[in-house]
Amino acid sequence: MPKPFEYAQGMRNKIVEKQRKEIKGIYLEVLKELQDEITTLSYKDDMSENLKIKYLKSMKKELEENMRYADKKMEKTIRGNMDNMVTAILKDNQTFLKGMGFHDYMSNGKAMRDIVERVASGNLYKGKWSLSSAIWGDNKQKLNEINKIVAKGIMKNKGVYNIAKDLERYVNPRARKNYNWSNMFPGSRRKIDYNAQRLARTMVQHAYEESFVAVTKNNPFIEAYQWITSGGSRVCALCMDRESVDHYGLGPGIYPKDKLPLDHPNGMCTFDVVITMSNDEIADAVADWYLGVGDKSMNKKIDKYVKDLKKF
Ligand SMILES: [Zn+2]
Repeated sequence: MPKPFEYAQGMRNKIVEKQRKEIKGIYLEVLKELQDEITTLSYKDDMSENLKIKYLKSMKKELEENMRYADKKMEKTIRGNMDNMVTAILKDNQTFLKGMGFHDYMSNGKAMRDIVERVASGNLYKGKWSLSSAIWGDNKQKLNEINKIVAKGIMKNKGVYNIAKDLERYVNPRARKNYNWSNMFPGSRRKIDYNAQRLARTMVQHAYEESFVAVTKNNPFIEAYQWITSGGSRVCALCMDRESVDHYGLGPGIYPKDKLPLDHPNGMCTFDVVITMSNDEIADAVADWYLGVGDKSMNKKIDKYVKDLKKF
């Protein structure tokens, strides 16, 4: 029998990988628009200073608009991927419920929206942060960097074409920018999609962890959680510790259900449930509860769990 939340683990990887390409694609669209404009520029390099300023202004305005559009699309993309992540967890949970003999508890979607909202609104982080403010704060920074690239070009007496080529390099998610770039444009990011990628991965990861905990925390047959790193040399020291150290006397990497730490930004770990009862023992306990016989304290826990399930 596969592990109860294995499908969601696989989906987490798939969603993150798909999302990485989606975000690159969003910036490649901005790049394409700019490149289309640049092809019309190559013969306009001997324009008057007035015309040059006018031209740069309109080019900048268009780039800003495209960047805003891109960031709007980004927010939608990330939210969609968070939805997909929570849906995968709910699917696993339903399979698990069916296996235990609870056939009547199907998802209504509200729980999914609540979890996505909790992560995206920043409630999870107890601060003033939110997905939307992070995206729009980053958008503002990018517009600032675009402004500086244009201003520097004017100062250095570059032609419109060359300034446009600098902007092209700035928005290209595939462009390699070295320290020369940073010398020329101090404070300007080397990877246009770095912040967005980090934010997007973190959002999906936290939607994954939050929904995993939400659907399992009151399940009386799940005793604890296990922290699992992605393995390999890129795992950070904090996650290695979480996976391998016995912090609660339950075994290495095992956490009481109310003690699972929130993964850090860019985190790529996964979580598993710890179940010590066999499938037969679980089936017997559910049958006893149904008939109102057997272990009273277990029946109480199942009552609470079933009440909680109605939210999903
Ligand atoms: Zn880590």
